[in-house]
Parts: sequence; C-alpha cells; structure tokens
Amino acid sequence: MKCSKCGREAIIFQRYSGLHLCEMHFNRDVEQKARRAIRKNKWIVNGDRIAVALSGGKDSSAVLYFMSKLLKDRPDVDLCAINIDEGIAGYRYPEKAKKIADSLDVPFHSTSFSEEYGITLDRIVELFGDRLSCTYCGILRRTLMNRFARNLGMTKIAFGMNLDDEAQSVMLNVLRGDERGLITKKNPHPMMVPRIKPFIHVPERDAALYAFIHTEDFDLEGCPYSYNALRNDVRGLIDDYTSRHPSTKHSIVKLGEKLPELCETNGKGLRICPECGEACGDICRTCQIIREVKKAGSGDSHPDSCI
Ligand code: SF4
Repeated sequence: MKCSKCGREAIIFQRYSGLHLCEMHFNRDVEQKARRAIRKNKWIVNGDRIAVALSGGKDSSAVLYFMSKLLKDRPDVDLCAINIDEGIAGYRYPEKAKKIADSLDVPFHSTSFSEEYGITLDRIVELFGDRLSCTYCGILRRTLMNRFARNLGMTKIAFGMNLDDEAQSVMLNVLRGDERGLITKKNPHPMMVPRIKPFIHVPERDAALYAFIHTEDFDLEGCPYSYNALRNDVRGLIDDYTSRHPSTKHSIVKLGEKLPELCETNGKGLRICPECGEACGDICRTCQIIREVKKAGSGDSHPDSCI
C-alpha cells in the first residue's frame, strides 16, 4: 500500500485514522502526538529534571528515545533514566536497561526492592503465593519509583504508557471503584514527583513499531507473573469493544484526562505516612505489605490480610 500523505511505500495502516503511512510520516505522526500531549499538559518547563522510568522493554525504550531526541537542544532540561529491579528471576535485567540508556547517551540510575525493602518479588510470591503478585509489585514499585526520583532531585517522571495502557488504567479504576485513582492524577501531593506520559495518545501498536524502528536490544520477555494481572481481562474487554468501535480507547483516555480537571482534587485526601514518610491514603499500603512480609518471613504468617 502507498502512504496516504506522500505516495511512498506504507509501513502501517492506522485503522482508527484510516491512513496508510510511510516511515517518515509514521514517525512524524507519533512524535506530533507526543509533542501535542506535552504542550497541552505543560509537562515540560524550563529547569525540569526528567527521569524516564526505563524497564528495558519496548514502551519505555521508545519514550526514552523520543525524549532524548526532543530534549537534545534543550540545555535547560536534564534527562536521565531510572530503573527499578523488582527481583523477578529470568525477567528483570537492569543491565539491559542500562545498555539502552548508554546507547542514547542518557545517564542511568538503578535501585531494587532488595536494596530498599530487603525482599524480592520472587520471595514475596514464595511467601504469599502468586495470586496478588501484581498488586504487591505495583504498590511497592510506585512508592520506590517516587522516592528514588525525588531523592535524585527529579521534577518529573516520564512513563512509557501508551493509549492502550492508559485506557486500561482508567477502566481498572472504574472496575475497582477507585475514585481517587480516577481524579488525582493531575495535581499530585507535593511529596509525589509528577508523572508524565508523552505517548498517552499513541496506540500500543504504533508505539511498538516506533520502538522497533529506533531502538534495539530492548526486552521482549513477558513477566512470569503477568498472567495474574486483572489488566489482562480489561485489555481483552477493551480490545474486543474497540474492534467494533475504533475510537473507544481514545474516548476512555479523554474521560480519564477530563475527570481530574473537573474535580480539582490537588492531592487532597492524601497524608504522610508516619512510618515511611511517603504520601499515602488512609492506610499506607507499602508499609502494610512490608510488615506482612516480615511477619510471614519470620514464620508468623498472615497471608492476604494486607491487601
Ligand atoms: Fe510486577 Fe505484575 Fe508487572 Fe510482573 S506483570 S512486573 S508482577 S506488575
């Protein structure tokens, strides 16, 4: 097929836009979507120090490539990559992420559950089983990512979430009845480093192709615990509906962007945990998990009671 814009050989057909695009127009399309999202949300300002959360997978590698290209002529904005090693054997390799950051000449920093919490996710699964692996992992990683970036003096954390991921996150919050998750994204608590998602309007398929074009050596392995993620069910549900209504993901993401604006929560409802000093809800779930893990590790087991 020929590119709908210039007649060159097309490399992708975007069902939602009805366009065939050649490599040049495809790159332009992805980068325009990312630049527009950054401009609209005022995600980058003079003096920013931005950490890209780099897992070593395709999505975060693609965003790191884009950010390094975008900021190469912005001496007023610092960029680095940060990596969290959850301790999942055969899946998480910080050295692979470092190689990607090095290839783009971006400084790299890494920490781990083991260094910070004294436990790996594999050990947590041994203690409690794998049913809630993603819940434990998500809570502990979110807290550690925020603390690590804040201690490095970062003003923003950029995530590799694409349109599909974001639509799933909005829907997950709806299904869990998590109203705070739906409305507090825009103005987090001062202890929380603001999160930015440059690829929020780029569909997963487009983000993957962009990664294949521009980066190499990224990790294609899936997490061994991912079969447990509720996200998988939600992905199936949204993909199925989108096959009949192509703009569904865009609509869900738009809803997720509008709700915080309407509610103007400004981080209200969060408090500082007296134990770990991080912003949390009524209960600090990170400290709760660590307490339960320590009890279980010492033989006094209380599986499931903390989640
Ligand atoms: Fe963690 Fe679940 Fe993601 Fe694996 S799939 S890295 S356990 S959140």
